[in-house]
Amino acid sequence: MSTEAVSLTVGVPRESYPGERRVALIPASIAPLKKAGIGVVLESGAGLEAGHADDDYVASGARIGSRTEVFASANVIFQVRAAGANRVSSRADLDSFRSGQWLIGLCDPFTEPSLMAELAGRDVSCFALELLPRITRAQSMDVLSSMASIAGYKAVLMAADQLPRLFPMMMTAAGTISPAKVFVMGVGVAGLQAIATARRLGAVVKAYDIRPAVKDEVLSLGAKFVELDLKTDNAAGAGGYAKAMDEEFYQRQRELLTQVVAESDVVITTAAVPGKKAPMLVTAEMVRRMPKRSLLIDMAAEQGGNCELTRPGETIVENGVSIVGCVNIPSSVPFHASQMYAKNLSTFLLSQVKGGQLALNRADEIVSNTLVTHEGQVVHPRIREVLGLGSLEVAASADTGPSLPQNSSGA
Ligand code: NAD
Repeated sequence: MSTEAVSLTVGVPRESYPGERRVALIPASIAPLKKAGIGVVLESGAGLEAGHADDDYVASGARIGSRTEVFASANVIFQVRAAGANRVSSRADLDSFRSGQWLIGLCDPFTEPSLMAELAGRDVSCFALELLPRITRAQSMDVLSSMASIAGYKAVLMAADQLPRLFPMMMTAAGTISPAKVFVMGVGVAGLQAIATARRLGAVVKAYDIRPAVKDEVLSLGAKFVELDLKTDNAAGAGGYAKAMDEEFYQRQRELLTQVVAESDVVITTAAVPGKKAPMLVTAEMVRRMPKRSLLIDMAAEQGGNCELTRPGETIVENGVSIVGCVNIPSSVPFHASQMYAKNLSTFLLSQVKGGQLALNRADEIVSNTLVTHEGQVVHPRIREVLGLGSLEVAASADTGPSLPQNSSGA
């Protein structure tokens, strides 16, 4: 383990996932890094889609280079979609990583665990921010919450745009327009933002979640909480997340939700269970009972979908009802999504830097939850399990960090 003084550099390659418009660092996030003695090298054009030209980064103190230079210069790589979160093209970067380099970003480690093994094989320390604990201290690093807030808001705008009805009630000389009925299923971060946005647009909103604890939050936003005659005492697991239930439970849930779905002009589904396929809450039969020209916006499409008919990235029309399989909504708001993402990543990195050096504290739950690969091994117990690897004895200790790759181009 190296303790020698090495100046730290964050590298930001251009996102390579098709259609991804976010960037992992914005010019305004460079100053706090510089203050901590951290330099930045960015691939030319990386911020363009999010509204930031190379010159804006240079003016904030970053250096612009090629993709090769970014990987060769940086000790820490910031990415929006890395590893399994970019199954399409992340393999192309594997050989660019250097021993001891850190990778911080969304990595979707459960969906593509083999990519984690590849990174371990290259001695990369990979932090998958999906695994960040939902604790108060980690809120400013919580990329899932940041992106879910944006997605919840935008999903409602998409619905309002596509629905052939208005959202608010209007009393006009030409008659009274009744408000749209919106039903939000799954009241986590995205669901709460969807409720608030739909309410602001004037819709009548109902919401449901398997966790009854969210009822007060739903009511405080002016929506009605749908209560079902179901036993849900054990529905919340660690960290406030929902637990996966058995098929009998989901069957009963669907039966009880049928009527509410049938009365809705817009259904927005966000239900998810971490590390598992999204629960199926709406059957094709339930969709057929919805009003003609109504909409189902499935925000869980990428996790398998909450509706039986959902196809990720596509809009399916069934009996006059459109089922929108949303993918990567935050990328459609790249300016603010990048602003929030950059703040989250910078805060995460700065929590593991002392005196301008990487100071990895493996006893910190923020690290132990997110660190998937380190010192040539997959170290995360759940990912090891998925990969069929045995358990690993990890000494929980504060250390001065992994051996740092030297800056090979003097950045
Ligand atoms: P998520 O994306 O994992 O799931 C979305 C929602 O779907 C959740 O509310 C979940 O209960 C719900 N759901 C799952 N199965 C369902 C089913 N069968 N029927 C109906 N709803 C179902 O959730 P999230 O937005 O990531 O939030 C998860 C938890 O973390 C929440 O308790 C949230 O308040 C908490 N949280 C805490 C912090 C913090 O303190 N730092 C930050 C963000 C979120």
